[in-house]
Amino acid sequence: MVANDSNKFQAIISHAKEYGFVFQSSEIYDGLSAVYDYGPWGSELKKNIREAWWNAMTRMHDNIVGIDTAIFMHPTTWKASGHVDNFSDPMIDNKDSKKRYRVDHLIEASADVLVKEGKETEAEQLVQKMESLLAENDFAGLKQMIDEHKIKCSVSNTCNWTEVRQFNLMFSTQVGSVAEDATEIYLRPETAQGIFVNFLNVQKTARMKIPFGIAQVGKAFRNEIVARQFIFRMREFEQMEMQFFIRPGTQKEWYAYWKEERMKWHTSLGFPAENYRYHDHVKLAHYADAAVDIEFAFPIGWKEVEGIHSRTDFDLKSHQQYSGKKLQYFDPEINQNYVPFVIETSIGLDRMFLLTLCHAYQEEKWNKEDGSEDSRVVLKIPAKLAPIKLAILPLLKKEGLPEIAKEIMATCRNEFYCFYEEKDTIGKRYRRMDALGTPFCITIDHQTKEDQTVTIRYRDTMKQERIPIDGLAQFIKGKI
Ligand code: ATP
Repeated sequence: MVANDSNKFQAIISHAKEYGFVFQSSEIYDGLSAVYDYGPWGSELKKNIREAWWNAMTRMHDNIVGIDTAIFMHPTTWKASGHVDNFSDPMIDNKDSKKRYRVDHLIEASADVLVKEGKETEAEQLVQKMESLLAENDFAGLKQMIDEHKIKCSVSNTCNWTEVRQFNLMFSTQVGSVAEDATEIYLRPETAQGIFVNFLNVQKTARMKIPFGIAQVGKAFRNEIVARQFIFRMREFEQMEMQFFIRPGTQKEWYAYWKEERMKWHTSLGFPAENYRYHDHVKLAHYADAAVDIEFAFPIGWKEVEGIHSRTDFDLKSHQQYSGKKLQYFDPEINQNYVPFVIETSIGLDRMFLLTLCHAYQEEKWNKEDGSEDSRVVLKIPAKLAPIKLAILPLLKKEGLPEIAKEIMATCRNEFYCFYEEKDTIGKRYRRMDALGTPFCITIDHQTKEDQTVTIRYRDTMKQERIPIDGLAQFIKGKI
């Protein structure tokens, strides 16, 4: 387990707000719990992560195509998928505070406290025992565990608990104009089902041959009961999912393939391998025959960022049964019709965003040449994902320097996101760009007028050098 660093986490949350990355939703009305809005730089960063995933999954694979399906789906979809009957979590209420907790979160929080106290083995045992009780759906056992460990409610500070019960996590709403005609429908709790119900449409129109995948990015909604930890667990969030359709019997090898492939994606973005680990599921979802989480060392501990699930033929078979329509594939290589098996990769875009911020956020201190101390807060966001790639800064607001800077801006903004700024001292402007995670700044000064060079300053090392304006865009693109 990694140590909890809630101070760092709080600092990241404040930074995200102060610099226009993430705001509490409807903040002027005191916010809406577990719902967030992305500001100017947050939406840009989010878009870059989405694009990196989309390109890696679709453009870089001959046999994967993307789709974009609706949030509303026929209500029977969720009967078939098992969400109406199974998509629930064991919960427990504190009788004094009336606060409701997800049982696994309550116990995990108590394990985190043990870690803080240096009792790591005890914490591990607690989590292991909880996982096996969850796997057996042993609610009485879970309740007993909470009682035995005297786990307290964080609000009332008492151990006065109800029994453990199941609650459905789907949001519902009505379609239809008059109350009598209205049908209850759900806001999708995952994007995957939009892929399954379109399996044949896509296979036929895009002329796909098994094995092949369908990718999608979109909003999902879950009525999360314990919704804390900033954008880690939200009620409205975005998923990036890919369902890979395969011949039955080949699921083990494809599962291993995607497990490795997805980890490679994370490290290829520049996130260190040692901050990742796999966590095999003990309790398997109703649709899965194998499942693993890719976990990241967040400042709040090791947490899931992505799941890889071997979903068997559960979903397609179930939709076949409920819809009465065949969802089969004729495999010319073996001359057989079958319902394909599926390997799913599912990652939360918001969680990947949080991972990026947590990795990037650094507070640095050093001694200057005169012995005095200097410091900065810097977001070392991988250049490929950074919201602003290049800041263009004229040293002065006069003497023709802004004109040159604007010319450079006009050329470079076609290639990548640039930001022009002429206010404040150059030192202050550098600091602001550090805080936004801008990997490159260029300064236009008097020498620029003489030799057509600018000073480039690198965010991570703060090193500076002079480079020619000619070929600048290419130079930056090469670095990205
Ligand atoms: P958890 O155990 O954290 O609730 P899960 O196992 O239910 O997650 P999946 O259903 O496998 O999650 O969803 C796939 C991915 O979607 C997760 O790995 C996570 O990145 C993201 N995700 C799930 N729920 C949320 C949420 N409430 N807020 C933000 N992201 C989420």
